[in-house]
Amino acid sequence: GSVLAFQDPELASIIADEELRQTENIELIASENFTSLAVREAQGSVLTNKYAEGYPGRRWYGGCENVDKIEQIAIDRAKEIYGADHANVQPHSGSQANTAVYFSVLKPGDRILTMDLAHGGHLTHGHKANFSGQLYDVTHYGVSEQDECIDYDALEELAEECQPQMITAGASAYPRVIDWERMAAIAKKVGAYLFVDMAHIAGLVAAGQHPSPVPHADFVTTTTHKSLRGPRGGLILCKEEYAKKIDGKVFPGIQGGPLMHVIAAKAVCFGEALKPEFKDYQAQIVANAKALAAALEAKGFRIVSGGTDNHLMMVDLRPKGINGSDAQILLDEAGITVNKNAIPFDTGSPMKPSGIRIGTPAVTTRGMKEAEMEQIATWIADAIEKRDDEAALKAIKAEVAAFNQRFPLP
Ligand code: PLP
Repeated sequence: GSVLAFQDPELASIIADEELRQTENIELIASENFTSLAVREAQGSVLTNKYAEGYPGRRWYGGCENVDKIEQIAIDRAKEIYGADHANVQPHSGSQANTAVYFSVLKPGDRILTMDLAHGGHLTHGHKANFSGQLYDVTHYGVSEQDECIDYDALEELAEECQPQMITAGASAYPRVIDWERMAAIAKKVGAYLFVDMAHIAGLVAAGQHPSPVPHADFVTTTTHKSLRGPRGGLILCKEEYAKKIDGKVFPGIQGGPLMHVIAAKAVCFGEALKPEFKDYQAQIVANAKALAAALEAKGFRIVSGGTDNHLMMVDLRPKGINGSDAQILLDEAGITVNKNAIPFDTGSPMKPSGIRIGTPAVTTRGMKEAEMEQIATWIADAIEKRDDEAALKAIKAEVAAFNQRFPLP
């Protein structure tokens, strides 16, 4: 029996409800995934009891002989996966990883050139509600209105005009391959650091499904919990010359004790990413995204930029006469989880944007393939068409739950 259920039945019951929700629903949030049981076991281990400020072999606490080995394994595996000179596995999150990078080489008031949130960037890429938008002098680049892909020529012009200290690349809602080489050439031309946040595509990069930014960028950060399928957390990779600066900014710069249980779970995840099956998994994520985008397009949705090269697609709902917010709510009723999202040059408002973002990492972990993507597209289209029909939405939810039984969670 469960100790938690005995000691704190209220909490245990809510967690059980969440497990049921994850089991019965179709998870299409592009930044989510289902970790292995091994990852969860490491994360739920006695390592959560340990303080280990510092780095392997250089700690401020005694009793670190075991956690030293664990952190070193995590570092070595991260370096091996990405061919990086240096890895810091301590950031508690993607945002912390990004904070450490900015703080390592920038001063308040420095100029950064970053991807606009409205075109797919992340809050930590200079949004005014985030520290990065408050501390630095931000210029945004984005996609072109013609093809909805990053406009590198415009980016180059902006870089020459604003002479930034740093260019930030990487995105939360961009479905196409990013040209790191071109970004690096632009950064070099204007004497800026190139910082790539590959959070969304880290799993694809690990498996060769997206070109790696590591050879081109001064700094690369990622979260470990998206396509990489590890515990929630962050990772920084950098060239050897920045190693000391990065380590010092993570601790003691912005964090205290590392989460050793999470670092152990990251090590397990990195071990999984080094296995041959991980390549097949990532290839299937991309194949599924292409299949789902094509199926949705065939049903009358507009796919931003006309398709996808990675694990996600941006769906313009305007041809269906519904906004992203209402679609998110009604798809929830049908057992399908997505998030509302602005699309480039959105004509809607931030609370009622025109799009939804859909990703395939989680459904692919469950073992779904192209045929299942067709089925999911059918349910999405049906639910949106029958949005005012409570009974129809209920019927879809029941079908979804029955279908999901064929694809057990890890
Ligand atoms: N960077 C990108 C590109 C992201 O999409 C995200 C997560 O949404 C983050 C950073 C932030 O990660 P976290 O939520 O762990 O702070």
